[in-house]
Amino acid sequence: MTQTPALTRNQTLVLGTLTKAGEPLSAYAILDRLREEGFRAPLQVYRALDKLLETGLVHRLDSLKAFVACSHPHEHAGETMVAFAICENCARVWEFSDSKIEARFSAWAEAEDFETRATTLEISGLCAACRAAAAAGKPGKPGPETSRR
Ligand SMILES: [Zn+2]
Ligand SMILES: [Zn+2]
Repeated sequence: MTQTPALTRNQTLVLGTLTKAGEPLSAYAILDRLREEGFRAPLQVYRALDKLLETGLVHRLDSLKAFVACSHPHEHAGETMVAFAICENCARVWEFSDSKIEARFSAWAEAEDFETRATTLEISGLCAACRAAAAAGKPGKPGPETSRR
């Protein structure tokens, strides 16, 4: 029983861009990649993203001000917590959820009578491949800051 929400052309294009990228993209990076498809204004991207975020097909990463396609869109039903580990060097993102962590948050929210809408955890660090590359003395993919210096 796959319940794929009906998407407009723009929503499909934005989702496709994020899925193909396989890494987080800012709204402006998405816009750049969709200019050939007739996208002209950031608002077109934001409107599409609003709907995709609402349906859980896309997640927003506040620490990067970027968006990623959900890696398991069918597992979000009834689940409020989603966690991301983000490699600071290559920007690869791992998405996971953990029922034990979620249970802790729920217990806290219940004790405080706090109505949780969504819980997002963002973990930053270095992935195994980047640490291995650094140990071997090879610079990994340079980030935006390091490449300017
Ligand atoms: Zn997800
Ligand atoms: Zn990495």
